[in-house]
Amino acid sequence: MPGKTTNSRRDRAVGVLAGLLLVGSATAATIAIDVGHSLSAPGATSSYGETEFSYNRALALEIARTLRGAGHLVLLIGADGDATSLKDRPAMAAAGGAEFFLSVHHDSAQPQFLRTWHYQGAERYEGDHSGYSFYVFPQHPRLTESARCAGAMSQALVAQGFARTLHHAEGVAGEYRPLRDATLGLYDADFAVLRGATMPAVLFEAGVIVNKRDALTLARPVTRQRIAAAVREGLAACMPR
Ligand SMILES: [Zn+2]
Repeated sequence: MPGKTTNSRRDRAVGVLAGLLLVGSATAATIAIDVGHSLSAPGATSSYGETEFSYNRALALEIARTLRGAGHLVLLIGADGDATSLKDRPAMAAAGGAEFFLSVHHDSAQPQFLRTWHYQGAERYEGDHSGYSFYVFPQHPRLTESARCAGAMSQALVAQGFARTLHHAEGVAGEYRPLRDATLGLYDADFAVLRGATMPAVLFEAGVIVNKRDALTLARPVTRQRIAAAVREGLAACMPR
């Protein structure tokens, strides 16, 4: 029937238009989410013996899901656990046209601040440090945008009830990291994964997994969802429109 054809053409046209609006919407962007570490070099170990890589992967997947839900294109890097080169990660992001690079990690503390305890028959470490932190490379050509996005994500995390940690600025061996903004928990760092990035780039330590309480909280899906929501809100606030 002619009428039906017209309607279906119109429906198709509306569908195409909606798709174009989604692709061209002000906040849609291509964002690289990097899963810190790998299966063979899994980073820190939690107070319960879980690897940092497993924490990083679970959170990165939730962040990717959340950003995709907001209409962004997400390049997930290192989720298979076989990405070992820190230079390849930002290069993969650039090849995919990423406009922003976020490396996802979980944190530890210096050994003198940790106590031993036993969990499931194994000796593990636990301490009192707690909180998230952000890192930018101070010589990065896109430093201003990187720091602005880190700050926006930090503010969104505070709104979600999270608190930053300042323990990396302490005057002890292995720390002494320069604080760019103490309120935001934003540090300067010469991390290779940030140094190699051509787009605005931030490294995120979501929380301290050598804290017995925080290691459990950070492993809960609802915590990952709240962190991912803060990342989405922060990036919406800081990225060019
Ligand atoms: Zn790490």
